[in-house]
Amino acid sequence: MQFKSHMDKALEAARDAGARGEVPVGAVLVASDGVLLAVAGNRTRELNDPTAHAEMLVIREACAKLGNERLTGCDLYVTLEPCPMCASAISHARIARVYYGASDPKSGGVAQGPRVFDHSQSHHTPEVYDGIAAEACETLLTDFFVNKRR
Ligand SMILES: [Zn+2]
Repeated sequence: MQFKSHMDKALEAARDAGARGEVPVGAVLVASDGVLLAVAGNRTRELNDPTAHAEMLVIREACAKLGNERLTGCDLYVTLEPCPMCASAISHARIARVYYGASDPKSGGVAQGPRVFDHSQSHHTPEVYDGIAAEACETLLTDFFVNKRR
């Protein structure tokens, strides 16, 4: 099967999140057959829910859609390196591949911090591809925080 990146859709969701005053992070979940299962941006403020990260929202939606607690064979695209909470959820959901954009030295949990997938307690380790459209993902975040400080 030919590889098709869904990072453009994740970026769109991130931009929408930023427009709603949320941290501009977006995620997309794609089934093994290429069908788009869920698209979401952060909604922590709107839902008053610290767990409403884009990744958590697409995982919940996709699991509900498939009627399964596992997303075996699915691909996740997210504009920012997942935090430890989301990385853990990704592992529990048995997601096959994670494509992310910007790295997150402050809160990331994949390539830094607790490196959840490399941990001996990790139930499942997805294939991880970083730096996908990293510049666009990063610019979105930087602009958001610069504007906020004004
Ligand atoms: Zn997260």
